[in-house]
Amino acid sequence: MNIDDKLALNLFHVDKEAHIKVNTEICARCPHRLCTYTCPVDNYKMDEGKMVFSWEGCLECGTCRVICDQGALTWDYPTGGFGIIYRLG
Ligand code: SF4
Repeated sequence: MNIDDKLALNLFHVDKEAHIKVNTEICARCPHRLCTYTCPVDNYKMDEGKMVFSWEGCLECGTCRVICDQGALTWDYPTGGFGIIYRLG
């Protein structure tokens, strides 16, 4: 079983409210945009010079929280009852 097959087994209870807030004005000035390379589910993408973020498939791994050195993120776990449910540990 490869990683995509394993990820497909996870369940998500997606909140309407994003648990990660992104200040895209800061992203626009970011010199490296490491989040676009390191998020395991590609939640951060640049589209015509603008940062586009989605939180629906977030694995809550915290990589973006650690790697963003520009202060663009406000990161919190989803509200209780929402977020990912891992099915294979
Ligand atoms: Fe991506 Fe992990 Fe950040 Fe979620 S916590 S957006 S999966 S890097």
